[in-house]
Amino acid sequence: MPDCIFCKIVAGEIPAEIVAETPMSIAFKDISPKAPLHVLVVSKEHHENIAAIGSANPAAAADLAVLSRQVADDAGVTDYRLIFNSGPDAGQTVFHVHGHVLAGGAIALGFE
Ligand code: 5GP
Ligand code: ZN
Repeated sequence: MPDCIFCKIVAGEIPAEIVAETPMSIAFKDISPKAPLHVLVVSKEHHENIAAIGSANPAAAADLAVLSRQVADDAGVTDYRLIFNSGPDAGQTVFHVHGHVLAGGAIALGFE
Protein backbone atom coordinates (compact mmCIF):
# COMPACT_ATOMS: atom_id res chain seq x y z
CA MET A 1 0.00 0.00 0.00
CA PRO A 2 1.56 3.31 -1.02
CA ASP A 3 1.88 5.76 1.88
CA CYS A 4 1.42 3.02 4.50
CA ILE A 5 4.18 3.44 7.08
CA PHE A 6 4.07 -0.19 8.21
CA CYS A 7 4.21 -1.49 4.61
CA LYS A 8 7.36 0.64 4.26
CA ILE A 9 8.84 -0.89 7.42
CA VAL A 10 7.98 -4.39 6.13
CA ALA A 11 9.70 -3.51 2.83
CA GLY A 12 12.78 -2.19 4.65
CA GLU A 13 12.25 1.31 3.27
CA ILE A 14 11.94 2.81 6.77
CA PRO A 15 14.16 1.57 9.61
CA ALA A 16 12.72 -0.16 12.64
CA GLU A 17 14.17 -2.13 15.52
CA ILE A 18 13.00 -5.58 14.45
CA VAL A 19 13.05 -8.12 17.29
CA ALA A 20 11.43 -11.15 15.61
CA GLU A 21 10.18 -12.30 12.25
CA THR A 22 8.15 -15.14 10.74
CA PRO A 23 7.31 -15.77 7.07
CA MET A 24 4.02 -13.86 7.59
CA SER A 25 4.79 -11.24 10.23
CA ILE A 26 7.40 -9.01 11.80
CA ALA A 27 7.77 -7.65 15.33
CA PHE A 28 9.47 -4.33 16.04
CA LYS A 29 9.77 -1.94 18.96
CA ASP A 30 7.19 0.82 19.16
CA ILE A 31 8.81 4.18 18.43
CA SER A 32 7.01 5.70 21.43
CA PRO A 33 6.87 2.95 24.09
CA LYS A 34 4.04 3.05 26.64
CA ALA A 35 5.45 0.23 28.79
CA PRO A 36 8.87 -1.33 29.51
CA LEU A 37 8.05 -3.91 26.83
CA HIS A 38 6.16 -2.37 23.91
CA VAL A 39 6.55 -4.24 20.66
CA LEU A 40 4.25 -4.20 17.64
CA VAL A 41 3.41 -7.44 15.84
CA VAL A 42 2.65 -6.57 12.22
CA SER A 43 1.49 -8.65 9.27
CA LYS A 44 3.60 -8.50 6.12
CA GLU A 45 0.38 -8.30 4.08
CA HIS A 46 -1.51 -5.03 4.27
CA HIS A 47 -4.88 -5.34 5.99
CA GLU A 48 -6.60 -2.48 7.74
CA ASN A 49 -7.34 -4.12 11.09
CA ILE A 50 -7.54 -7.42 12.95
CA ALA A 51 -11.06 -8.22 11.73
CA ALA A 52 -10.08 -7.66 8.10
CA ILE A 53 -7.05 -9.93 8.28
CA GLY A 54 -9.03 -12.49 10.27
CA SER A 55 -11.51 -12.72 7.40
CA ALA A 56 -9.03 -12.51 4.52
CA ASN A 57 -6.18 -14.62 5.90
CA PRO A 58 -6.91 -16.42 9.20
CA ALA A 59 -3.47 -18.04 9.28
CA ALA A 60 -1.81 -14.62 9.10
CA ALA A 61 -4.03 -13.36 11.94
CA ALA A 62 -3.14 -16.41 14.05
CA ASP A 63 0.52 -15.83 13.29
CA LEU A 64 0.32 -12.44 15.04
CA ALA A 65 -0.97 -14.14 18.19
CA VAL A 66 1.75 -16.80 18.11
CA LEU A 67 4.42 -14.18 17.44
CA SER A 68 3.26 -12.15 20.45
CA ARG A 69 4.09 -15.14 22.67
CA GLN A 70 7.52 -15.38 21.06
CA VAL A 71 8.17 -11.67 21.67
CA ALA A 72 7.24 -12.03 25.34
CA ASP A 73 9.35 -15.17 25.74
CA ASP A 74 12.34 -13.45 24.12
CA ALA A 75 11.90 -10.51 26.52
CA GLY A 76 11.80 -12.87 29.49
CA VAL A 77 8.19 -12.01 30.24
CA THR A 78 5.56 -14.55 31.30
CA ASP A 79 2.38 -12.45 31.12
CA TYR A 80 1.58 -9.66 28.73
CA ARG A 81 -1.25 -7.81 27.02
CA LEU A 82 -1.99 -7.97 23.28
CA ILE A 83 -4.08 -5.05 22.06
CA PHE A 84 -5.47 -4.36 18.60
CA ASN A 85 -6.92 -0.88 18.37
CA SER A 86 -9.57 -1.07 15.66
CA GLY A 87 -10.84 2.21 14.25
CA PRO A 88 -9.95 5.83 14.99
CA ASP A 89 -12.33 6.18 17.92
CA ALA A 90 -10.52 3.24 19.57
CA GLY A 91 -7.15 4.95 19.12
CA GLN A 92 -6.01 3.35 15.87
CA THR A 93 -3.67 5.75 14.08
CA VAL A 94 -1.87 3.39 11.68
CA PHE A 95 -4.33 1.55 9.44
CA HIS A 96 -2.20 -1.54 8.86
CA VAL A 97 -3.06 -4.27 11.34
CA HIS A 98 -0.75 -4.41 14.35
CA GLY A 99 -0.99 -5.83 17.83
CA HIS A 100 0.61 -4.01 20.75
CA VAL A 101 2.55 -6.44 22.94
CA LEU A 102 2.76 -4.73 26.34
CA ALA A 103 4.33 -5.87 29.58
CA GLY A 104 6.11 -4.58 32.64
CA GLY A 105 5.31 -1.74 34.98
CA ALA A 106 1.80 -0.46 35.45
CA ILE A 107 0.15 -0.66 32.04
CA ALA A 108 -2.70 1.78 31.71
CA LEU A 109 -5.84 0.29 30.22
CA GLY A 110 -6.34 3.42 28.18
CA PHE A 111 -10.13 3.34 28.37
CA GLU A 112 -11.12 7.00 28.60
P1 5GP B 1 -2.22 2.60 17.00
O1 5GP B 1 -2.43 3.96 17.63
O2 5GP B 1 -2.57 2.63 15.52
O3 5GP B 1 -2.88 1.46 17.73
O4 5GP B 1 -0.68 2.29 17.14
C1 5GP B 1 0.28 2.81 16.28
C2 5GP B 1 1.60 2.69 17.00
O5 5GP B 1 2.62 2.79 16.04
C3 5GP B 1 1.85 3.80 18.03
O6 5GP B 1 2.06 3.21 19.31
C4 5GP B 1 3.09 4.51 17.50
O7 5GP B 1 3.98 4.91 18.54
C5 5GP B 1 3.71 3.48 16.58
N1 5GP B 1 4.43 4.03 15.45
C6 5GP B 1 3.98 4.99 14.59
N2 5GP B 1 4.89 5.23 13.63
C7 5GP B 1 5.93 4.40 13.89
C8 5GP B 1 7.19 4.20 13.23
O8 5GP B 1 7.53 4.82 12.22
N3 5GP B 1 8.01 3.27 13.78
C9 5GP B 1 7.66 2.55 14.90
N4 5GP B 1 8.56 1.65 15.35
N5 5GP B 1 6.49 2.72 15.53
C10 5GP B 1 5.64 3.64 15.04
ZN1 ZN C 1 0.37 -1.38 5.07
